[in-house]
Amino acid sequence: MTQTKVRFAPSPTGPLHIGGARSALFNWLFARRYGGKFVVRIEDTDLDRSSRASEENILSSLRWLGLDWDEGIDVGGDNGPYRQTERLKIYSQYAAYLLEKGLAYRCYCSEEELAAQREAQLAAGEMVRYTGKCRDLGPEDCARLEAEGRKPVLRFRVPSEKIITVRDIVRGNVNFDCAGIGDFIIIKSDDIPTYNFAVVVDDHLMGINHVIRAEEHLSNTPLQVLLYEALGWDVPEFAHVSLILGKDRSKMSKRHGATSIEQYRELGYLPEALVNFLALLGWSPGTEEEVFTLDQLKEQFSLERVSKSPAVFDLEKLNWLNGSY
Ligand code: GLU
Repeated sequence: MTQTKVRFAPSPTGPLHIGGARSALFNWLFARRYGGKFVVRIEDTDLDRSSRASEENILSSLRWLGLDWDEGIDVGGDNGPYRQTERLKIYSQYAAYLLEKGLAYRCYCSEEELAAQREAQLAAGEMVRYTGKCRDLGPEDCARLEAEGRKPVLRFRVPSEKIITVRDIVRGNVNFDCAGIGDFIIIKSDDIPTYNFAVVVDDHLMGINHVIRAEEHLSNTPLQVLLYEALGWDVPEFAHVSLILGKDRSKMSKRHGATSIEQYRELGYLPEALVNFLALLGWSPGTEEEVFTLDQLKEQFSLERVSKSPAVFDLEKLNWLNGSY
């Protein structure tokens, strides 16, 4: 049987927050429960917003929570490097393959042209997505545009008539119609891959077979499935974990309590209490029991008991748990 392999892939654009820590914990518990491997990969392709300080914050918060990793950043392993900006050559190789197979193409549309295309679509009451203007450019067209000083992006050619079924352990089968997905960018004009492309290449090369992450990425998943299929790779199992809402059912924010793990640490909370609290944000043991050690969680955690309804952040419950240790 294939060994379970999961990952936590934070973008280092701020401190580790409650939602990120919950994703990390669910992945960690799943790996530990099934004797699998847990990888930590830093997704730092947003060059303007990523920083080493955020990366350090995320890693030290994971360590404080007791979530150790088997492979990845600062631990190493055979599948590194584990920081995406150090893997740019790898992404360009796979992009070149898609280009060669005609599954991707060079697009020279400028921001202004794209904005004008969008406006025209809106005015015509059409769905807003990339028009496919550069789909059929030949080598001479590309050479001419490049001679004008234009730098292309690479777009993935999305089939026009296709339904993608995302099989999700938490949500069941979710269908997406490709008619609603425009040809999307895989490599930007500065040669940096987009999130959807880098994540597929990395998850495949790192042998990730279960992708457990926040619900906000569900709409990216059909794009990723298209890429897996185009590259001839097995599609991993997905589990999209529900949103975390405040007690008033609005999106979790500072009003509901501190949002970063570091703040709880500074406030003197116990890591055990926080882990216990995070585990119950979306997962339920199926009993009335509420106080769990990390070892107990490791024995009981299962994705089948993760709810698809939003989880509610209740600071009083965290305080109560913190007092129970
Ligand atoms: N870097 C992405 C994020 O932080 C990871 C998404 C994923 O797990 O695929 O949201």
